Amino acid sequence: MKEMNPFKTVQRQLDKAAEALDLEESIHQALRKPMRTFIVNFQVKMDDGSSKTFKGYRVQYNDALGPTKGGLRFHPNETLDTVKALAAWMTWKTAVADIPYGGGKGGVVCSPNQLSEREMERVSRSYICAISDYIGPDKDIPAPDVYTTSQTMAWMMDEFSKIKGVNAPGVITGKPVEVGGSLGRGDATARGVIYTIREAANKLNRSLDQATIAVQGYGNVGSYVHKLMEEQLGAKVVAIGDEEGAIYSEDGICYSKVKDNMKAHGVFSKEMEGVEYLGDIEEGNKKLLELDVDILIPAAIENVLTQENADEVKADIIAEAANGPTTPEADDILNQKGIYIIPDFLCNAGGVTVSYFEWVQNRNRYYWSEAEVYERLDKKMTKAFADVHNRAQEEGVDNRTAAYMVSIEKLARAMELRGWV
Ligand code: GLU
Repeated sequence: MKEMNPFKTVQRQLDKAAEALDLEESIHQALRKPMRTFIVNFQVKMDDGSSKTFKGYRVQYNDALGPTKGGLRFHPNETLDTVKALAAWMTWKTAVADIPYGGGKGGVVCSPNQLSEREMERVSRSYICAISDYIGPDKDIPAPDVYTTSQTMAWMMDEFSKIKGVNAPGVITGKPVEVGGSLGRGDATARGVIYTIREAANKLNRSLDQATIAVQGYGNVGSYVHKLMEEQLGAKVVAIGDEEGAIYSEDGICYSKVKDNMKAHGVFSKEMEGVEYLGDIEEGNKKLLELDVDILIPAAIENVLTQENADEVKADIIAEAANGPTTPEADDILNQKGIYIIPDFLCNAGGVTVSYFEWVQNRNRYYWSEAEVYERLDKKMTKAFADVHNRAQEEGVDNRTAAYMVSIEKLARAMELRGWV
């Protein structure tokens, strides 16, 4: 059966891991549902003088390991089930990365490209006002995600601080450096992705020099992945795609050329010299996902690899930089094909790891150098990768199930010790 509801995906993934772990039933059931779910409706004054009601969500999935943590998405198709799924993945993510947080996620149903800068600010502030009693540096700590930026975080931190009458940088992470952000947070998710790819290549005895890469999604994560794959690992990014379509070049697409082109044209897809235009979002992305490359990196949103296209994937390694890019049906097909998958909540844990570093710095009001951040990030990612890879080998399970096993064990122990189960 075709399953595209991300929360059902989470529950299926969890059930599979629970079976492999022979997990106690009460813990299994507790982890199948979020602890707390908030739905808020709030009014925002628009530039034309009218007032509009927006819907927002915040889900605190599980806080056995620490205050809940996770991003905020501004997306027109946001649903409660998607936010619940993303909050669950955050819970497994912080556990696998071994950082003392639970998992949460939030979202506002809106189309950021149809809002002015001032309207964005008012939506951000009003949303935080609506959930201000439920978040805080020791409660629940939001961060950026799809269509939210460091500027969004700055407004939100400011609003929360005003409401509470304190200066509270630790309420939110991913802030600009000038107002308590951490050096190295901007490209942290992408950096974490390339550390896991480096580790996977080591384990598989493969060289990354001139390895061919396709990147689907060209936002904060995808574009930095492109840059770092080229700069740090010497790999060749042969295809990139985003909402405008996808482009391909056998000789590799140079990151700086894409940047220049984006500046000049706003969109990169059609105008670039020396590259082949693969098609619009539908056609171009379909072709991109099926390219014969060494590594495929979905870096956009969920449900990109499905039972419709999984059989056509020719990459040897899939690095899931996005959250939830692979449906359970696709997962089975890709595993059967012997593709090495670096599962999302391991692969993209770099963002929340540096968020944690930011929060630690905020609490101490003492700030680290960029080199220090990167070094600590590398250590965390390398350790998390090894835990998952080794577990998969020992148990004879796929990497995603192994990642679940590592995370769920930690959560189960914390829940037992707290006396919840
Ligand atoms: N939104 C990012 C994620 O999905 C980062 C979350 C955070 O830093 O709290 O992992």
